[in-house]
Amino acid sequence: MSMYTILLNLLLGWIGAILVNYLADVLPVYRKFTKPKCIACGEEFSWKFYILLVPCSHCGNKPSPRHIFVLILGPVFGGLLAIFPLESLGNYSALLWLIYFSLVTVIDLEQRLILHPVSLAGVILGMVFRISNHGIWNTILGGAAGFSIMLILYFLGDLFVRVMSRSRGEEIEEIALGFGDVNLAGVIGLLLGWPGIIAGILLAILLGGVVSGIYLVLQVLRKKYQAYQALPYGPFLVLSVVVLLYLSHLVK
Ligand SMILES: [Zn+2]
Repeated sequence: MSMYTILLNLLLGWIGAILVNYLADVLPVYRKFTKPKCIACGEEFSWKFYILLVPCSHCGNKPSPRHIFVLILGPVFGGLLAIFPLESLGNYSALLWLIYFSLVTVIDLEQRLILHPVSLAGVILGMVFRISNHGIWNTILGGAAGFSIMLILYFLGDLFVRVMSRSRGEEIEEIALGFGDVNLAGVIGLLLGWPGIIAGILLAILLGGVVSGIYLVLQVLRKKYQAYQALPYGPFLVLSVVVLLYLSHLVK
């Protein structure tokens, strides 16, 4: 770790954060790269909104707490990657994955959505950056395993909701697991390879279970209990990857 790497990562983390804020604003709405547009009034505005958090000049719309959080956390995580490097990934690849997973997490938390183009970008990232580490078959096997295991869970979740809805005689709109989670598990499979992806999914389910358990208890305590509140699983998959990458690092 050198001072140079830390400074570089602070800068790249900050640039990445600007990108995440911009993409999380435009992609769910326009499904393509556009000039920066105000999410409140739809007018084009300058990059100053993302870089310096200057309000929209047309309607005065201020950056949201998310814009501020991301802009602070980007350099923090970038700097942390310099201090605690993931040698199995390499600094630049780790930064790219950081930006990628930040974008997935922000959009999933805000929109309950993992966009197909974002998943596709993850597949490309996985193929480009992991084949050199794990070899082509291990990478593809990991991706295929992640996708198929989550697909089975997706159908099981769907079945569970249908059975429960029939037994209660009421329609339940919620789905247990989104298809975006299936795609994301595929991307994470490419990143973790085989058999790492098995641990990745198990850990994500465990983390999701613990958090939803705590959430349920809190809901019951506040007497606001509501069954079948779907949990966005994306952030747990991402958290699980981070934990496993650092663990595999410690084991070596
Ligand atoms: Zn505006």
